[in-house]
Amino acid sequence: MTTADRKAAARRLTDAKRVVVKVGSALLVDGDKGRLNRAWLESLAADVAALRKRGQEVILVSSGAIALGRRHLALGTGKLKLEESQAAAAVGQIRLAHAYKELLDAHGITVAQILLTLGDTEQRRRYLNARGTLNTLLALGAVPVINENDTVATAEIRYGDNDRLAARVSQMVGADCLVLLSDIDGLYTANPTADPDAQFIARVLEITPAIEAMAQGSGSDMGTGGMQTKIAAAKIALGAGCHFCIALGSVEYPLRCIEEGARCTWFVPSSTPVATRKQWIAGTLKPAGAISVDDGAVRALMAGKSLLPAGVTRAVGRFERGDTISIIGADGTEIARGICAYSDADTARIMGRKSADIEKVLGFRGRDEIVHRDDLVVLRIL
Ligand code: GLU
Repeated sequence: MTTADRKAAARRLTDAKRVVVKVGSALLVDGDKGRLNRAWLESLAADVAALRKRGQEVILVSSGAIALGRRHLALGTGKLKLEESQAAAAVGQIRLAHAYKELLDAHGITVAQILLTLGDTEQRRRYLNARGTLNTLLALGAVPVINENDTVATAEIRYGDNDRLAARVSQMVGADCLVLLSDIDGLYTANPTADPDAQFIARVLEITPAIEAMAQGSGSDMGTGGMQTKIAAAKIALGAGCHFCIALGSVEYPLRCIEEGARCTWFVPSSTPVATRKQWIAGTLKPAGAISVDDGAVRALMAGKSLLPAGVTRAVGRFERGDTISIIGADGTEIARGICAYSDADTARIMGRKSADIEKVLGFRGRDEIVHRDDLVVLRIL
């Protein structure tokens, strides 16, 4: 692959609307001294500012809390007990957040800290809340900086590595590109430090058993995630239609380096985030309930529009916000499926009304649409 080929591949980053960048502990924290690698972080902040200037939305998933905090608590370099790493995370996270705030402030960028636990990405209601907050922050132009909430995470209920957390976040927000900045420039057929015959892999279209076998042998990272967690992250990202890149982070301006053709491994999905989401909705085996709509709404849905409360005539069955429901035409046939923004009870209260009345009727301001067009699949073309 030539530099020109690599630059062309990097369009996956430059053309992405929503980008998630995962920053590993080894990049942020100087291993020996346990200090923040400030010059490097400044260069990353400049890269993030360049993406924002182009109109791209950016989320950072950053490790480094435990590595930073343990130094301040003089916890030494050995393996930490759970309570010690929780304490270290509490001390390190505040420093980490402060550093991001200060360095992104310099570019006029607002930083928002979000600490997630496993339940926030795995339990439906909390997942929807976290997704809603992230979408709102991005719409307001902020850059969310995410880490696992290590202070409350216990051994059994934690991600432990930010590779998979970053992939789940990418899936949650429908990101089109996830860049994993690592201490290795990509995937090799074997561990390149131990095996001189190890071959670099520039592009992966599918996670085959052979790829998984390679990950077992390839060494990486002084952080928690080795190549195996990166491949696990790649699987999640590809399944969500998100481009995924493992790149060397230990250079200054690491994102610019990728754009300028630095070597890295690209995992290329066969679908887009919206298409993947729609496939998932269409494939729901048992919708939780149904909504009947009038002919005007049917025409709007066929034209690719969202379903508004005005066109709804009935809510059938019990469903919650975030459940998949069937949308039924006046003749009783299912014409679409989608994720409903309201429960059955709230749908019944706002049906037939204008979106502007939602707040008055429900007492809170929800979404204008009952089912947003991105969350909707038309099953039957009239
Ligand atoms: N959440 C951990 C921290 O901030 C890091 C996890 C990882 O290394 O991926 O220290």
